[in-house]
Amino acid sequence: MGADSTELGFDPDALRDRYRSERDKRVRTDGSTQYLEVAGEYARFAEHDPYADPTFTRAPISEDLDLAIIGGGFSGLLAAARLREQGVDSFRVIEAGGDFGGTWYWNRYPGAQCDTESYCYLPLLEELGYMPRERYSYADEIFEHSQRIGRHYDLYSSALFQTRVGSIEWDDTIDRWHVRTQRGDDLRARFVIMALGPMSRPKLPGIPGIGEFEGHSFHSSRWDYGYTGGDTTGGMTGLADQRVAVIGSGATAIQCVPRVARDAQHVYLFQRTPSTVWLRRNRPTDPEWFSSQRPGWQRERRENFAAQAAGEMVEDDLIDDSWTEVFRAISAPKGEHRPRTKEERDRVVELSDMALMEQIRRRVDDVVRDPATREALKPYYRVMCKRPTFNDEFLECFNRPNVTLVDVSESQGVERITPRGVVAGGVEYEVDCIVYASGFEMSSSLRRRLGLDIVGRDGETLSDHWSGGLRTLHGFMTRGFPNWFWIGVSQNAFSLNMTSMFDDQARHIAYVVAESLRRGAATVEPTEAAQDDWVSVINGFYVGGRSFLEACTPGYYNNEGSPLGGSGFFGAYTPGINAFNRLLEQWRADGAMAGLELRDGDGAELAEGSSTAAT
Ligand code: NDP
Repeated sequence: MGADSTELGFDPDALRDRYRSERDKRVRTDGSTQYLEVAGEYARFAEHDPYADPTFTRAPISEDLDLAIIGGGFSGLLAAARLREQGVDSFRVIEAGGDFGGTWYWNRYPGAQCDTESYCYLPLLEELGYMPRERYSYADEIFEHSQRIGRHYDLYSSALFQTRVGSIEWDDTIDRWHVRTQRGDDLRARFVIMALGPMSRPKLPGIPGIGEFEGHSFHSSRWDYGYTGGDTTGGMTGLADQRVAVIGSGATAIQCVPRVARDAQHVYLFQRTPSTVWLRRNRPTDPEWFSSQRPGWQRERRENFAAQAAGEMVEDDLIDDSWTEVFRAISAPKGEHRPRTKEERDRVVELSDMALMEQIRRRVDDVVRDPATREALKPYYRVMCKRPTFNDEFLECFNRPNVTLVDVSESQGVERITPRGVVAGGVEYEVDCIVYASGFEMSSSLRRRLGLDIVGRDGETLSDHWSGGLRTLHGFMTRGFPNWFWIGVSQNAFSLNMTSMFDDQARHIAYVVAESLRRGAATVEPTEAAQDDWVSVINGFYVGGRSFLEACTPGYYNNEGSPLGGSGFFGAYTPGINAFNRLLEQWRADGAMAGLELRDGDGAELAEGSSTAAT
C-alpha cells in the first residue's frame, strides 16, 4: 500500500482491480437475453393472481370517455387524483390486479418494506391526514394507503379490476383511442395515460431445466401464502418441513430471506452478486413530531431528499438516513473543498465511494461468523452500480444453522434446475420449493414489457416509432401518438423516491389534459422540433454516465453490462427532479403549451405556442 493507501485505510488501486475482475467474471455474453419472457409455459409466474377471486366475472363495457388510465398503482392513482383536482372526472382506471396498489398489490412477500422513508414515500399524506405507523412502512400499510387514496378520491367507482388491456389503438376518424381488454371492453378514450410502473413485469432467469422442477415454485411478486401459510409478517407454518431455495439476492431477497429463515426447515440462498446491505434503523413514528410538521412539510421533505440525491448542497439533511449517507458518499464536496477539475472531482468521489463500501464490507465482517460465507457476502463495486439495500436482519440470518449461502458467481448463475432441486458448483441441492427473487423486466423490448403494442396514427406501432431510441417531449408524450401520455422512467428526471416522481408527472399530465380540454382541443401532441430539442438535451446529459455504468457489475442498472444509449429508457434529466420540476412549473406558468400542437376536431391548429419548448 502507498502513502495514500495508509492514510485511507484501503488501497484504491487494488480495489479498482478487484472491482474490474468481479465485473468481468459476471458479464455474460447473452446479456439481457439471459432472462426468460414470462409468457407461454411460464405465464403462470406472472399472470396467476394469488390474491384475487378467480371466479370474478362482469359484462363487457362499451363507452366513450375522456380518459383511460392504464394501471392502478401509485402512478395511476396519482394521475386520477390530480385529474379529479383539475375537474376531469370522465375516466376509467384499468388494472390487472384485484385492487389498487400496483407494486404493493403484487409484492406481498414476507418482510416486504419500502426502503424510502414513509414520510417521503407515501403520497398525499397531508391531503389525507395520514400518519405512517413507522419510519419505513411495510407492504401491508402501503397497500392500505393505496386503498385509502382510492376511497378518498372516489376512484373505486371508476376502476376496472382484474382486467388486462389487450390493445390500444388510435382512431383518426373519431380522434380517440380504442382501449380493448381481455374482458371484451371497448373504451373509446380521448386521452390515454400509461401508468404501468417501471417494474411491473416479473422476469425469470433462463436457467436450463426451469420447467422440469417437480416441487412448488413461484416468483417473489406472486407469493403463494396458500402454500407457505402465514402473511407478510411471517408465521409461514407451511414451510416448517420445507427446504426452500431463493434464487436472487437483490432488494427483494434481502427482505424476504430473514423471514423465510425463521419459518422454513432450511433456506438456500443462491447468490450471484452480493447486495450492499446497509443499516435500516426503523422506528415507530413519534406522533408529537408528526403533528408538529407545518403545512407543505411533505413536499419540502421530498425536495430535500431529491436535492441530496442530485448532489446539491442542503442546509439541513431532513431525512438523515442510510440513503442520504449514500448520497453524501457519492457527491463531490461543496464550498471551499470543492474540487477544481473534473479529474479531481472524479477521484474524490471515487475514494469516498470506496470508503463507504469498505464500511459496508466491514459490517459483513462484524456480523457474519462463517469465514467463507462472510467473504461471499461482500460486495465489490461502486455503491450505485446496484440498488443499495437496507436491512438489519439479513446478514444476521447467515449465523443460523438452517440458512446456507450458495455462491454461484463463478458459473454466472445457477447451473441447472432438476426435477428435485437446484444445481450449483456441480452439487444438486434438493429442495421442496423455489422462490425466484429474480426481479423485473426493465430494458427488454417495450412490447415484451407491456405485453402489447400501442398503435398510433397511420398504424405505426410505438415499438417501431422508438426502434431507433426514445423520442419524447419531457418524457411524457411523443409525436404521432396524439393524446397519449407516459408516466414513469423515460426522458425525464428520475427519483429513487418513485411516488414523488409519479406525483410530479401526474400533476403535469393532468394539467396538459385539462388545459387541452379547456381549449377545446381534439388532439394534442409534441411538435417534431420540440421533441428533437428535448432528445438532444437528454443525450447531452448522458455522456458522463456511460463509463461509470460500463465499469459496473452487470444488473438492470446497466442493461446487464451493456448500458443503453442516451435515447434508451435510462436517458434522464440528470440535473435532478427538483430542477426538472422547476422547468415544468415554468412551462405551465407560461401558459403557451410550448412545443405542443393542439388541433380541433377539423384538424385546425388551435394554439399559437412556440414550436419548441423551454429546455
Ligand atoms: P433484482 O433485479 O434487483 O435482483 C434479481 C436477482 O436475481 C439478482 O440478485 C440477480 O443476480 C439474481 N439472478 C438473476 N439471474 C440469476 C441466475 N441465473 N442465477 C442466480 N441469480 C440470478 O430484483 P429484486 O426483485 O430484488 O429488486 C428489483 C427492484 O425492486 C429493486 O432494485 C428495487 O428498485 C425494487 N425494490 C424496492 C423495494 C423498496 O424498498 N421500495 C423493495 C424491493 C425491491 P445479479 O445481481 O448477479 O444479476
